[in-house]
Amino acid sequence: MKILVLNAGSSSQKSCLYDLPNDRLPEDPLEPVWDGFVDWTHHQGFAEVRVKTAAGAVLKEEIQTTDKPAVVQHLMNTLWQGETQVIEKPDEIAAVGHRVVHGGDKYQERVRITPAVKAAIADLAVFAPVHNPANLEGIETTEQILGPTVPQIAVFDTAFHTHLPPPAYAYPIPYRYLEQGIRRYGFHGISHQYCAHRAAQLLGRNLQELRLITCHLGNGCSLAAIQNGVSIDTTMGFTPLEGVMMGSRSGSIDPGILIHLLRQENYTADELDKLLNRASGLQGVSGVSADLRQVMRAIADGNQQAKLAFDVYIHRLRAGIGSMLASLGGLDALVFTAGVGENSAPVRAATCQNLAFLGLKLDLDQNNSHPVDQDIATPDSTIRVLVIHTQEDWAIAQECWRLVTSDR
Ligand code: ADP
Repeated sequence: MKILVLNAGSSSQKSCLYDLPNDRLPEDPLEPVWDGFVDWTHHQGFAEVRVKTAAGAVLKEEIQTTDKPAVVQHLMNTLWQGETQVIEKPDEIAAVGHRVVHGGDKYQERVRITPAVKAAIADLAVFAPVHNPANLEGIETTEQILGPTVPQIAVFDTAFHTHLPPPAYAYPIPYRYLEQGIRRYGFHGISHQYCAHRAAQLLGRNLQELRLITCHLGNGCSLAAIQNGVSIDTTMGFTPLEGVMMGSRSGSIDPGILIHLLRQENYTADELDKLLNRASGLQGVSGVSADLRQVMRAIADGNQQAKLAFDVYIHRLRAGIGSMLASLGGLDALVFTAGVGENSAPVRAATCQNLAFLGLKLDLDQNNSHPVDQDIATPDSTIRVLVIHTQEDWAIAQECWRLVTSDR
C-alpha cells in the first residue's frame, strides 16, 4: 500500500511516499521510497525543489515562481515521471496524510477530510493564522492533482493533547475566555504520541503502565507528561509560544513584561509577535544563533552571552520537567527527541544531572555515543532515559493506514 504524507508549512513543504509491504504495518519505522522538499525562503521569488528516492535518484531544481500549487504539482509529478519515478500512475496512491497544526478541541484523532473538516480547519485559522491556511492550501492542491477518490486524511498536532484534564488546560483568567476557546491546546502531539509508543516498544513494556515525560527539543520545544498512553499535561499552550525556551521563541515569560513593553515602548501586536517568536530564545539571549550548534561553538570560543543562553535553556528545561513530574506523580522513562534532544549530549547530560536525586543515572559513555532509539540510563538507574528519533511523517502514514484499513 502506498501512502503519501504531506507536511505543508508557510515557508516549506515536506512530502514523502511510503510503500507498505503486503499492505501491513511493519514493527519498525519504514524509510520512505520517495522524499520531496520545497523551500520558498532561500531565494526570493524562487522555489527550491529537492527530491531523493530510496533507489538513490536525486533531483535538485530552482524554479522561478511564487505559485505554490504549481510547484506542488511539479513536485508530485516527480513521483510518476523522470529519474525519481517510483510509481506508474497517481491512482496507485491509497491515501494522503496531511499534518494539520490546529484541530482545536474538536478533533481527538485523525479524520478523513470532507468539506466540513476543511471548513473547521479554516475556522481554526483564527488560532493558528500561519499554519492552518498553509495546511489547507496543501490539502486543496493535492485534491486537485489526485482527484476526489483518493482518501485524504488530516492528522492534527493538537489531537494527542485533547484529553488534558481541565486543571491542565484552563488558564487562571476570567472564565468567559475559556468559553471563547482560550485554553491550553498543546502541540507537537504527533511527535509526543509517536515517542510514547516507540518508548513502550523499546522498553518491551505496555504503554498503559508507563509514566513518561517526552522532551521534543527542535527549533520549537515542548514537553508532555504521558500516563496510560494519554497526554495529561504539556508545556505548550494556547499557542506554540508557551513553555520551555526554544531556538528563537521565548517560551513562558512574565506576562507583565508585555504590559510594560506596550505601555513604555509603544509596541504593536506585530512587534511583540516578532520579538517573542523570532528574536528571543537561544537567538535572543546569545545574540549568536537560534541553532544550538552555533551557540555551543561560541561557548567553546569563550562567549559568555552564549553560555548564559545555554544555562537559561537548561534551567527552563529542568523546570519544565519538574512541572511534568509533579503532574505525573512519578516517572518510568524520560525521552529526548527532535534535533536538539536527539543530537545534543551536553543538553541531555545537564538536564539529567539535577534528576540524580530521583535515582536517575545517565550512562555518560552511551550518552556520548550518538544513540538512536536507545536506552542511555545505567542498568541500576530507577528511571530509564531514552533517545528516540522522532518520525512524524511515519506516524502520519501509520494513522492513514489505520483509518484506511478500518474503513474496509
Ligand atoms: P524542527 O523543530 O524545525 O523540526 P529539528 O527537530 O530538526 O527542527 O531541530 C533543529 C534544531 O536541532 C537545530 O536548530 C539545531 O539547533 C538542533 N541540532 C541539530 N543537530 C544538533 C547537534 N548535533 N547539536 C546540537 N543541536 C543540534
